[in-house]
Amino acid sequence: MSIALFTLGGTIAMGGLDPGRPGVVARLTGADLTAAVPGLADLNPPLDVRDALAVPSAHLTYRQLLDVVDAAGRAVIAGATGVVVTQGTDTLEESAFLADLVWPHDAPLVFTGAMRNPTLAGPDGPANLLAAARVAAAPSARGLGVLVAFNDEVHAARWVRKTHSTSTATFASPNTGPLGHVIEGRVRVLVRPERPAPLSPVDPDRLDGTRVALHTVTLDDDGLLLDRLAETHHGLVVAGFGVGHVPARLAPTLGALADRIPVVLTSRSGAGSVLRNTYGAVGSETDLRRRGLLDGGLLDPYKAKVLLRLLLAANAGRDTIAAALARHG
Ligand code: ASP
Repeated sequence: MSIALFTLGGTIAMGGLDPGRPGVVARLTGADLTAAVPGLADLNPPLDVRDALAVPSAHLTYRQLLDVVDAAGRAVIAGATGVVVTQGTDTLEESAFLADLVWPHDAPLVFTGAMRNPTLAGPDGPANLLAAARVAAAPSARGLGVLVAFNDEVHAARWVRKTHSTSTATFASPNTGPLGHVIEGRVRVLVRPERPAPLSPVDPDRLDGTRVALHTVTLDDDGLLLDRLAETHHGLVVAGFGVGHVPARLAPTLGALADRIPVVLTSRSGAGSVLRNTYGAVGSETDLRRRGLLDGGLLDPYKAKVLLRLLLAANAGRDTIAAALARHG
């Protein structure tokens, strides 16, 4: 028995410099990361380290992440109690949600990273890695799907957000709060939310060829960017104002797009749901729903984009997409 550790890079591993260039780059291996963690050598079961990638998280692709999820699944089938993935924090909320959508195992798959790189005073990577390993080993974390362990909190991938560009307390779940905490090394799971059934595995080639756009609506938006979108994209997520509103002049553009491709309405607010039946103006949620936009519910725009891309890559039609949004949002 072991805890499999897959390292993908990110600030947690950025302890190196490239000659002639300013700034840290991902250089540390899994062995370097684990050597820096007091207490990790005593972990039971021990870590089984696999260096997968060493990149900033902005460079990650769906294909790479799904390969890691596959390898993590194989590790679990071969007997691993749980899995930890270290990566950069910038895209971690999307990676963890992508993994959660397809993770069929009871064993925990736990993402973590760091905000302070190993060359700074008080790097948070070692503590986050130790907490993540403890969560991956914890019987109470089984069946919760993909988790994010950070700053001694345990979050569901389904709800977690990166909420601050530099704070070590950046990960939060604004709609729910954390599922639990790591206290004096003990994993305390306080909430066990229902988890939607995982999606079927996705063909990576189809995924590569599936384009989903995200448009964040802004004040006085003329929507010009959206004009020819259906010629290049298979789906669109709209991050609307507040409860799901857009300027009146965008409403017909979005309606015309929704006749051709699935268009999902979400909120750009950072927390809370889009509404369904409250406001009546042109460009309001009732108007946009009447024009064919789909309700993203509580899904934030980034997670809605991940879900829509997976569904479209699996050839899902409008009704299947609406049903999946109802389950996940
Ligand atoms: N830019 C880094 C990354 O996402 C930030 C981090 O790891 O916190 O790779």
